[in-house]
Amino acid sequence: MDEVTGAQLIAESLKAQKVDYMFGIVGVPIIEVAMAAQAAGIRYVGMRNEQAACYAASAIGYITGRPGACLVVSGPGLIHALGGMANANMNCWPVVVIGGSSDRNQETAGAFQEFPQVEACRLYSKFSARPSSLEAIPSVIEKAVRTSIYGRPGACYVDIAGDMVNAKVERSKVREVSCCPPPPVSLADQGSVTEAISVLKAAKTPLVIIGKGAAYGRAETVLREFIETSGLPFLPTPMGKGVLPDDHANCVAAARSRALLQADVILLFGARLNWMLHFGLPPRFNPNVKIIQVDLCAEEMGNNVRPAVALLGDISAVATQLLMCVRRDGWKYPSNAEWWSMLKSKIAANAKISKALALQSTVPLNYYTVFHHISQLLPHDCIIVSEGANTMDIGRTMLNNYLPRHRLDAGTFGTMGVGLGFAIAAAAVEASQNTGRRVVCVEGDSAFGFSGMEVETMCRYSLPVVVIVVNNNGIYSGVDSETWKAMKQMGELTSVAPPVSLLPEARYDEVMKAFGGRGLLVRTVEELRSALQLSLSDWERPSLINVLIDPSSDRKQQEFPWLTRSNL
Ligand code: ADP
Ligand code: MG
Repeated sequence: MDEVTGAQLIAESLKAQKVDYMFGIVGVPIIEVAMAAQAAGIRYVGMRNEQAACYAASAIGYITGRPGACLVVSGPGLIHALGGMANANMNCWPVVVIGGSSDRNQETAGAFQEFPQVEACRLYSKFSARPSSLEAIPSVIEKAVRTSIYGRPGACYVDIAGDMVNAKVERSKVREVSCCPPPPVSLADQGSVTEAISVLKAAKTPLVIIGKGAAYGRAETVLREFIETSGLPFLPTPMGKGVLPDDHANCVAAARSRALLQADVILLFGARLNWMLHFGLPPRFNPNVKIIQVDLCAEEMGNNVRPAVALLGDISAVATQLLMCVRRDGWKYPSNAEWWSMLKSKIAANAKISKALALQSTVPLNYYTVFHHISQLLPHDCIIVSEGANTMDIGRTMLNNYLPRHRLDAGTFGTMGVGLGFAIAAAAVEASQNTGRRVVCVEGDSAFGFSGMEVETMCRYSLPVVVIVVNNNGIYSGVDSETWKAMKQMGELTSVAPPVSLLPEARYDEVMKAFGGRGLLVRTVEELRSALQLSLSDWERPSLINVLIDPSSDRKQQEFPWLTRSNL
């Protein structure tokens, strides 16, 4: 008799749905699930915390368009993964979490790690369910994978009771469920497209915003054609960077504040008007701005600003519709418009300020100098993962992206601790596809700490990630070693040390060394450059470059007072 276990059914069903990567931490009751996954041809990456495992699995969804799986044990394991589910759901990234749970005959009896897992996941997911029998596993997995990528992408949860993992059923009794087709594509209605074109043509100071929905939706080719045909200026959101290259002639990222403030019509491709875009409201936006909103989620239309035109549909499809109209009419926004010369002079002025800061080489270094030299050495096709406060904000303006889905950061939820998991996911994809692209993870020292033990994961799987910790001894800012010593004399550190401070000159590089990776401590431009060159030349193991910078280094003077608040 050909029998199959619950573990095998989960693994084979995931594989049938083209889930190729699984991240997790094994333990009772799901060890067999991980083993079955490997047997089914799924790559399994064992992580050190479920949160990081879930971040990694969700990054697979963003990078490949097919969800990664995250495998966790019951109770605390599942609860740790909730952070990753929440982050994925907020980012609109697909992920499928598989959680083992207590044996059914012990439920409500105070079983080991018992927790209402299906209910707990509801708030963090689009779909949360437990198969009612072994026979139901393939269809529940298919539904989870399908739901994660259809409509607005997001997180899905499948619970597997402990006693079902090793229970067996005759294979002939289980109905196979084939791979779900790619999400159906919808077009915007033609009347709205025509209206959008007439609003665009009437604009004096138009702007296109490209968000991470456009990156996820693989709209790079058509958006490039649309931008180049229409001659419009565009601005990427943080993860919209790279859909079109940052050095594209129409990119006005270096004049972001000005562009947002003065645009009279904004064509929004796959970005929400949430905090990241200042809600689309004054003082950051023109109060009379007309928004042409392109999104596949109807409920998103009108959040904070009522759109002049709502184009409901897939970004690639809608951009194609718009492109066809622009081509048909032979319309192009004039390159000699006053708006263009204003944007260009603002870009030049801003570049000058950053350049002046970047050319300083006094030790300890400032952020701008560090990023200037990093940007000179990074290969154009590298995947940049970034998190931290200043590290991420300043890094975003100075580290260019040239390819879509090559920047992953703290995202919509502003989650710190995502970096190492994202980098591991990206490196796992690189390892299996052999594209020769580098994964570089640019971390603030605080951000690094949340998932720092994942350097062991990088070392264990020989993933040649280059981690750069931009170390300012704290959260937002810190104090230097001398001040720290003086504070120790003043009284108990728990009373006198600023809550933002972390241990000055902490040796994060030694953490990487402890597991056999390369660890480098740098203080000067020369040391930084040679450490990065050395790390980039090594494809065998990961590196961590610990860059000690001025603990009071800050963002450059901002033109508008509201820009000085962190994260804005
Ligand atoms: P950003 O962080 O760049 O501002 P958001 O995550 O806020 O981006 O917004 C992304 C938007 O893109 C979401 O509203 C989501 O519904 C939408 N989206 C995702 N994929 C597609 C697609 N293929 N077509 C259209 N809209 C999409
Ligand atoms: Mg810091």
